[in-house]
Amino acid sequence: MTDATATPPTHERPWLDATLPVEERIDLLMAQMSLAEKVGQTHQVANIDPEADAAEIASGRISSSLYASGPTGGNERDEGVLVGNIDAAQRHAVAGSRLGIPLLFGRDVIHGHRTVAPIPLGIAASFDPDIAEEIGEIAAREAVVDGVAWTFAPMVDLSEEPRWGRVAESLGETPVLAGRLAAGLVRGFQGDDVGDPDRLAACAKHFAGYGLSAGGRDYDTVSVGENTLRNLHLRPFKWAVDAGVMTVMAAFNDVDGTPMHAHEHLLREVLKGEWGFDGMVVADWNGIGQLVNAGVAADLRGAAALAIRAGVDLDMCGGAYLAHLEELVESGEVDLALVDDAVRRVLRLKFRLGLFERPYAARPGASNAPTPESRATALRAAQAAHVLVKNDGVLPLDASPAAGSLLVSGAFVDDGDALLGTWVLDGRGEEVVTPEAALRERLGDRVTVADGRFSDVTLMQARAADTSVLLLGEHRSRSGEAQSVVDIGLPPGQIEVLRAVAALGKPLVAVVFTGRPLDLSEVLDLADAVLVVWHPGTEAGNALASVLLGEVEPSGRLPMTFPLSTGHIPTSTHQRPTGRLIRADVDHKEGRYIDALTYPRLPFGLGLSYTTVDYGAPSVSAPTMPTDGSVTLTVTVTNTGERPCREVVQLYFRDPVAEVTRPLVELTDWALVDLEPGQAREVTFDVQAGQTAYAGRDLTTRVDEGEIVLLTGPDAARLQSVSITVRNDS
Ligand code: BGC
Repeated sequence: MTDATATPPTHERPWLDATLPVEERIDLLMAQMSLAEKVGQTHQVANIDPEADAAEIASGRISSSLYASGPTGGNERDEGVLVGNIDAAQRHAVAGSRLGIPLLFGRDVIHGHRTVAPIPLGIAASFDPDIAEEIGEIAAREAVVDGVAWTFAPMVDLSEEPRWGRVAESLGETPVLAGRLAAGLVRGFQGDDVGDPDRLAACAKHFAGYGLSAGGRDYDTVSVGENTLRNLHLRPFKWAVDAGVMTVMAAFNDVDGTPMHAHEHLLREVLKGEWGFDGMVVADWNGIGQLVNAGVAADLRGAAALAIRAGVDLDMCGGAYLAHLEELVESGEVDLALVDDAVRRVLRLKFRLGLFERPYAARPGASNAPTPESRATALRAAQAAHVLVKNDGVLPLDASPAAGSLLVSGAFVDDGDALLGTWVLDGRGEEVVTPEAALRERLGDRVTVADGRFSDVTLMQARAADTSVLLLGEHRSRSGEAQSVVDIGLPPGQIEVLRAVAALGKPLVAVVFTGRPLDLSEVLDLADAVLVVWHPGTEAGNALASVLLGEVEPSGRLPMTFPLSTGHIPTSTHQRPTGRLIRADVDHKEGRYIDALTYPRLPFGLGLSYTTVDYGAPSVSAPTMPTDGSVTLTVTVTNTGERPCREVVQLYFRDPVAEVTRPLVELTDWALVDLEPGQAREVTFDVQAGQTAYAGRDLTTRVDEGEIVLLTGPDAARLQSVSITVRNDS
């Protein structure tokens, strides 16, 4: 009897010889593939069912499956269900299909799998690529246990639109921050060794311009020129590509009339051509089919032709390629070389991941429940994401009995699930340490809790307490995909409680859980201290309690500008000068609005600590720098208070005269600097002329001669400058 699961000898399947170079293995395999089998490799389905889809898998007509929710339609509650499904489906592909090409299983593992870190916007608030890398690594190690080989993260769309729900998934508004953190996540997800069984393929998404969807409405059109794309929105993708990201996802939106799934110039010419990206481009969910809805294709057949020409390699859940590519090639409308290129990229990914050697889940029977180690990382990440935006001295709270009683009030006080954040498919609310649990553990019965509703009970409790902590903001379901809002005010009912408690005149701390910048004007006016904590994940309560009580110092910084009101959107640190707006900090009246000033309510990069830090004036090692050279910038920072801190020393630049309008200030580097009380440190930055490069009018990248203003400080609104001259010495 022959064993149906045994691997055929390598002389029958020479591409299984792992000693051969990947490109040669692909050649060997593709030489054996029929057109139908090639097209099969471009087809991804959702939630594959090993029973119902067995014949289709065995016919070689499915390349990949994603589990957007789970085989049962919801989160995978039962350990082993997901991996059981995945391995059973894989068996049909590997042992049952003619060529035995393994399936590729993807899942949205965005900021954690079972152990959940803060939402990506919170990760960005840490300004710490190393934390991002650790989060990616833990997520990968946990996800592979469930058979997942590929995650659809990181999302690197720049976000300057707080109404857009997906800013929660983003790494902030500015290219270098988003780019560096994306690179950290990519390293964490993928590891150093291609084919490490404990890591995943990552996916930089959504290429490109998705963060500019009109009015912050998800999936809406995008009007942006290529210069702005190149100087801002494409840059984080380039960081991810340079970090080795194995896949890129096309965006749902159009760019100036051309839907991204049909955007041959940006996908094929820029990403794959100019940047040399040799990985795989995946469609977003039915993004190819949606070309029909967008009105650029008459039917699915036309959509398939547009997308394959544009350079979309794998059709996510749309079926356009499976239904039409074969016939499009046979009729001569689509060149076979385009299909071959797509298939080569899909197979390259599968070979690189080691799926031909290890098609099945790497750790059968292992647990991926949170461990003390994974929790420790999630805790550090959540603490690092806490941004203190106001403190009149009430924080840190005194943990001693002499400090009296504490009321903690808000809908999230005991709701772990609400604090996990968007895109959590496998994390569990009951595994979250809630604020109530963490504060009770530390303060015992000196803590009382209230549900945050405007009621006599809440007010009586606030009256009785010495200090109140109000937990405000959004439930996790109010941010994320398709969760746009017209008003970034607090959800209904919260401001009334805040006003009533503030009127008591006792110490009041506001904690803001959120997936987006909110209009915090009144909160900032009424509370004595305000902490923005995003959706912090599994260790939410411990992170909050430790920061409130001063066990750790707050060190997060805002990765997005918080506007004065909804009507001020968009605001971002990289506004460009106009004929009337030359300096954002002083020109906020001229020609802007007649009914309001326009400076941000909270500037990009802002974050206080429990001490004070003094910044000296920056100095440079030389007044000039060659166009291919560098200078050293030095700034002295001094902790002038009585507690230690982690200061995020920020370096921005401005290019006063260029071929095109350039940002008033743009973050270009930063340093995380630990300072003991009284300690002064000289912080140095190696400033390369290349950091000032930009796309000029002809869209090619250039470094200009002339003045560059370098600015350092604790945030984008408190900067001191020094000028240098860039010179072409060659
Ligand atoms: C989202 C992607 C996601 C995909 C798969 C789409 O709706 O835009 O970001 O990865 O679904 O779940």
